[in-house]
Amino acid sequence: MSTCVVLFTRDLRVHDNPALASSVRAFEHVLPLFVHDPALASGDNRRKFLAGALADLRNALRERGGDLAELRGDPVREAVRVAKKVGATAIAVTADVSGYARSRETRLAEACADERLAFKTFPGVTVLPPSEVRPGGGGSHYKVFTPYYRAWQAASWRDVLGAPRSIALPPDLPRSWFSASTGAEGETAARKRLSSWLSELPSYGDMHDDLAGDGTSRLSPYLHFGCLSPRELVERARDREGAEPFIRQLCWRDFYHQVLWAFPELRHKPYRPNAEDSWRDEKDALQAWREGHTGVPIVDAGMRQLLAEGWMHNRARLITASYLTKHLAQDWRAGGDHFFDLLLDGDVANNYGNWQWVAGTGNDTKPYRRFSPLRQAERFDPTGDYVRRYVPELAGIAGKAVHEPWKRPAAEWRGYPSPLALK
Ligand code: FAD
Repeated sequence: MSTCVVLFTRDLRVHDNPALASSVRAFEHVLPLFVHDPALASGDNRRKFLAGALADLRNALRERGGDLAELRGDPVREAVRVAKKVGATAIAVTADVSGYARSRETRLAEACADERLAFKTFPGVTVLPPSEVRPGGGGSHYKVFTPYYRAWQAASWRDVLGAPRSIALPPDLPRSWFSASTGAEGETAARKRLSSWLSELPSYGDMHDDLAGDGTSRLSPYLHFGCLSPRELVERARDREGAEPFIRQLCWRDFYHQVLWAFPELRHKPYRPNAEDSWRDEKDALQAWREGHTGVPIVDAGMRQLLAEGWMHNRARLITASYLTKHLAQDWRAGGDHFFDLLLDGDVANNYGNWQWVAGTGNDTKPYRRFSPLRQAERFDPTGDYVRRYVPELAGIAGKAVHEPWKRPAAEWRGYPSPLALK
């Protein structure tokens, strides 16, 4: 009887999961496994989301006759131990891009070779695997988005795969490997959200920068944990009215993933050689920014949305990150780490790639770009509704006047600080 262990990581779904689909096709028995890795401790928001996504995956696997073994420890050691215990001859895993994930894959490949197990990686974290399109002239990756977008659109994409109909587990598995809890907060919720979101696509181009309108998909946490396949998402969106600007954003996600793949230090080191990387170290300013008490309403609204929801609108991420780095001159790493702690979708490629873009140390071709928070507020929150939603002290100021409370009588904004910096 042939048996394979499928090690789940950031691919917590049964639909369009090449590692799972190929293993079910090629082996009589498949053991789905997730290993909680203490080295990957993340913030509370993501930890809770992960628990829901795993419970939902367990459900989906059980509906097909399978289950999800869940262990704790070093994923390499545990996967190999489990494979030997169930008599497996192979381990399959979805390839990922961070330095940590890549060294985990290398260690797993070596451990499998030592134990005479076959080892195979599969695509699935991005629409296109990072090395699939490369610039001319022998570069390892694209440094600028627009040429990448062109190459990405012209590339041939793999087929979307269905969910396996049935999964046969190896016999006699220890009960202690399996948890009882089930739930529907991962792939099930993601697919529901996707179906309803597709009908909103036509207005995405006009709405996606409107802070109060909240007209983006909110699929990012599902994409981060792989509850939804980015390849399937593109496939389902591409022929619909209004798809282009949305697919472009998904391409940004692939873009930063190939950047991280080629530059594993993205979280810590400036991406651009010779980028200016000296910052003021002012703890009070940083703390005021973190808490949403900078005195700039549009910045504070964004920071408080992050604290309240573990999510922030993309336009607000741009404004708050730009304010921290370009107005307060604080280090992008401190801002990035704060986002990373709290974001449900916090991931190394997108978070630090975007932070470096905003700070001018990354992939922006105009590194000295600086967003004026007041002009951004007027353009993207013209009614002031976004600010009033998240900054209750200012709820009594009507219309766009809420963006400049200091021009109003003090009685209307008492308790709200004056701006740390504006010009
Ligand atoms: P939509 O507008 O519906 O877009 C669809 C999908 O496209 C998103 O879910 C996301 O996967 C991708 N996408 C959209 N914009 C970007 C972008 N600029 N870069 C990369 N991918 C993008 N995104 C994360 O997923 N994780 C992060 O940790 C993260 N940190 C960020 C930090 C900063 C400073 C900035 C400016 C942006 C960051 N983003 C991050 C990108 C973007 O803000 C979020 O992906 C988006 O707001 C998620 O909401 P949505 O799913 O409704 O997006």
